[in-house]
Amino acid sequence: MKKLIIFLLTFSLFNFKSINADTIYNGILIDAHSQVGILISNEEVSKEINNNDVYLTLLSMRGKHENATKRYKSIQKQTQGKVRYLISTKLKGFARKKRDANEAIRGIKELKRQAIDSKINYVGYGEIIVQHAPHDHEKLKYEGINLNLKSYRIKKAIDIVLEDDAPIILHVELNDYEKDSKKILNQLVEISNEHPDKNFLLMHMAQIEIKEAKFILKNTNNVHFITSHSDPYRAKNEKRKRLGTAQTGWITLFNKKDNLKKKWKNLMNENPHRFVFALDNVFDHHWKKKYKERIYFWRKALASLNKGTALLIACGNANNYFKLEVKCK
Ligand SMILES: [Zn+2]
Repeated sequence: MKKLIIFLLTFSLFNFKSINADTIYNGILIDAHSQVGILISNEEVSKEINNNDVYLTLLSMRGKHENATKRYKSIQKQTQGKVRYLISTKLKGFARKKRDANEAIRGIKELKRQAIDSKINYVGYGEIIVQHAPHDHEKLKYEGINLNLKSYRIKKAIDIVLEDDAPIILHVELNDYEKDSKKILNQLVEISNEHPDKNFLLMHMAQIEIKEAKFILKNTNNVHFITSHSDPYRAKNEKRKRLGTAQTGWITLFNKKDNLKKKWKNLMNENPHRFVFALDNVFDHHWKKKYKERIYFWRKALASLNKGTALLIACGNANNYFKLEVKCK
């Protein structure tokens, strides 16, 4: 009898626990934009990719431009095809305002040639840096840049991407450059009208406020949001661990309980085609320390969305915009 009571007690406790455990989205995840630089080796990054449950990662390279293609191929081999290539747009000083714009543009074309010569079936281009706050940080020293969609080098870079019929990934910082945000938002509407059959993807949620996001969703059909760097880890990390000055405008889509804020959840459910999941791992600590945790945040967030919305944000939208031919499920 005693045994039976203990059994019943443990059983009910176990049940109680499983009811309260987080609900997790178990579908396929595509990380639509991450990066590999000199702080992590091909072996290390491949190991992380193999040990985590992101099905496919779209990857662009940082560091020396001569090594980009080789590095990608090595990672592709070591992960048995769990990555696809995004040609980097920023290796030849593209985001350094003092560097020659034409040389930077030639650098992108050179990387494209490298990819073609190496028979890499690339799926697009990495983010185009339009605005980027200055960094004085252990891992990045950088004087910053504040351009817009009419700037010479930005237009040239966009043209290269358009030629390949790939999505145009733009990195703008509406919070860090608040005073220019109206201009950038209007330019986004304008460019979306000029190219109604192309897709524009805004990295890191563009550091956008919800009101501005609604403006974009209402006034365009083809400007979408990439969810990178909007998870709780990023927000905490930015507050606590900043070692110098860096971007301060990141937004978080999550509340204090690490769930999606209701207003963002609603916006996603109302506009399921307009959000694309990505983590944008950049530095070694993104890949090594917090990768698993950030995937977990997102699997939990996706589970809180409508089923169809989750499927699109996790996989379907990236699959569609980058023509990846993944069977999303
Ligand atoms: Zn970025």
